[in-house]
Amino acid sequence: MTAETFEFQVEARQLLQMMVHSIYSNKDVFLRELVSNASDALDKLRIEALRDDALDVDVSDLHIEIEADKDARTLTIRDNGIGMSREEVVGLIGTIAKSGTAEFLQKLKEAQSARDAGAAEGLIGQFGVGFYSAFMVADEVTLLTRRAGEAAGTRWTSTGEGTYTVETVDDAPQGTSVTLRLKPVDNDNRLFDYTSPWKIKEIVKRYSDFITWPIRLVTATGEKKDEDGKDGEEPEPETINSRQALWARPRNEVSDEEYHELYRHLSHDWTDPLETIRIHAEGTFEYQALLFLPAQPPREMFSSGRRGVQLYVKRVLIMEDCEELVPTYLRFVKGVVDAQDLSLNISREILQQDRHIQMMRRRLAKKVLSTVKEMRAKQPEKYTAFWREFGPVLKEGLLNDAENRDAILAACSFATTRDAEETATLQEYVERMKEGQEHIYYMTGPSRAAVENSPHMEAYRDKGLEVLVLTDPVDELWVDAVPEFQGKKLRSIAKGEADLGTDEEKEEAKAEREQKQQEYGELLAWLGEQLGDEVKEVRLSSRLTTSPACVVSDSDDVTPGLRSMLRAMGQ
Ligand code: ADP
Ligand code: MG
Repeated sequence: MTAETFEFQVEARQLLQMMVHSIYSNKDVFLRELVSNASDALDKLRIEALRDDALDVDVSDLHIEIEADKDARTLTIRDNGIGMSREEVVGLIGTIAKSGTAEFLQKLKEAQSARDAGAAEGLIGQFGVGFYSAFMVADEVTLLTRRAGEAAGTRWTSTGEGTYTVETVDDAPQGTSVTLRLKPVDNDNRLFDYTSPWKIKEIVKRYSDFITWPIRLVTATGEKKDEDGKDGEEPEPETINSRQALWARPRNEVSDEEYHELYRHLSHDWTDPLETIRIHAEGTFEYQALLFLPAQPPREMFSSGRRGVQLYVKRVLIMEDCEELVPTYLRFVKGVVDAQDLSLNISREILQQDRHIQMMRRRLAKKVLSTVKEMRAKQPEKYTAFWREFGPVLKEGLLNDAENRDAILAACSFATTRDAEETATLQEYVERMKEGQEHIYYMTGPSRAAVENSPHMEAYRDKGLEVLVLTDPVDELWVDAVPEFQGKKLRSIAKGEADLGTDEEKEEAKAEREQKQQEYGELLAWLGEQLGDEVKEVRLSSRLTTSPACVVSDSDDVTPGLRSMLRAMGQ
């Protein structure tokens, strides 16, 4: 078949323009991106081969090869991984299917006009446009690929200037190779000599050392001659990454930078994680885990296609996103779990029941929760950042993880009427409860202002009682799921009768109310008639001090905020 020429989709073209004429100070990252793609492709093949017995591929020597040709000034990154079909090449490489492209371009422009090269670089990885970064250093890129199990291969070529060509080829090896025709060396613009073995090793060491597949460096010259002038001798490849799994190395031997680099690879998030969590379980069931708490919500947190926790068995990746390992309310957690003793072709159905998986899941959840709790005590600023992003998600756990309820509550903090800035844990709230206060008071609402200005608040404010201000939609749900904390019931100040004061005071108030009820009986009856179906009942209240009236709901009525949330969910 002859080559067909296609135009890049508009967004892709804009993006490429920026790559081609980029001002990024650090162009080295292109190699990280291409190696990362190769590593992903090897992971995918490995997993597919485990799942599909019919797939006839050789997985005995999966590896990445970097071939540098100084004379031809080309650099090839090759893998014998999953490869791509022709449709995949056009779909994945020719277009940017991912949402958020417009946002990406906007941010990139901002970063560039602010000359913030660091921010711009980060965006490349973050928005999954890694492949295009090749055009920072190359004036032509050729990708040759054949998908495992398919007969025909595909060649894709582009100079990054608006169009690309695609052609079907018969003799492509399985996997993918990406060949870059390098731009001239320009050290002032940080376009280094990327055919230099020294430079390649430096970049791989810095960004890709943890990659578990061997990365082999092959240096060739245009004539393929060795020093003695003998023709055609294959150069000896050299493995240039240490291939040591970070999670298996002693903590004091791994730098934060190395951990962060792994995090970037796993999450495609450039921002450093807030927290790195290590678990080293020994005994009858051995496993290691390396988990990260991101600083910002992963783009896919609210959609499918998440990148969560990877499951390895004895250093071999067997599942890219093992949902069974972390409860959904911790779905923002990234990382790796490496177990010693699990079956390699364990299926999702079996996973759910596997007691080892359940054991790990329990331990992981506890460890994440205790880390969050500790973060609040020791690094309050970090905690505040974490809580702002992930608090609403984490609180979902109060609804469905009864076993960890206390641990979740210990990690939670809430806005309160005591201080506009400072949040409180339930523990702190209970510790400073007033003499005679029996309940933990809260009020839910759409915003802090709405809650604070609510007439329900008046009596509590006057009595100097602290009230939790709960403004996330999920708050309306969990307060019902958590009956009490340390023997204190949670009580909404907007539902039912306000019950302030001591028993004696309450008795007095009751008598007074009954008297008033008689006094105002006619007025109440009249009001009830006037309002008709709008209300269930009109009664006198002890909860107001300055407002003449307020609307309350029954203790088990759906609150207005929840009603709109349920409506939004189609209930
Ligand atoms: P990302 O890796 O974030 O998805 P990239 O721009 O780096 O974004 O790559 C786009 C897509 O192209 C990848 O998701 C993958 O499906 C495909 N791809 C890139 N390189 C390879 C490769 N070496 N082997 C197989 N597929 C690849
Ligand atoms: Mg990539």
